[in-house]
Amino acid sequence: MNVIITKKEIYDTPNDAELGRLVRNKFWQEERNQRGPQFDDEHFGLVIGEDGLVKGIIRPDSDEYEKCIMCGETVPYLKSTHIDLRNGYIEGAGQLCKECYEKRS
Ligand SMILES: [Zn+2]
Repeated sequence: MNVIITKKEIYDTPNDAELGRLVRNKFWQEERNQRGPQFDDEHFGLVIGEDGLVKGIIRPDSDEYEKCIMCGETVPYLKSTHIDLRNGYIEGAGQLCKECYEKRS
């Protein structure tokens, strides 16, 4: 992947930090273009409840951790973490903490 910075952009951005930000923004833009629609400022993940209503919105930048559905304890997985990468996640039910997951069986 190539990120192209024009001479004009370099001249117009004398601040190195800002130039860095510009390059990074261009990079993410390019990355998004290549991967197709992804989470960004305009795309959010929705949490849909069993009744079909939206229960929450997952922002990609929110560092919110999951909570155990049994005891409410915070579990060390971000809400954005894919369920395949988690332990203690029960499909159709939700995330359990380590203790509740072990007690369950
Ligand atoms: Zn628990």
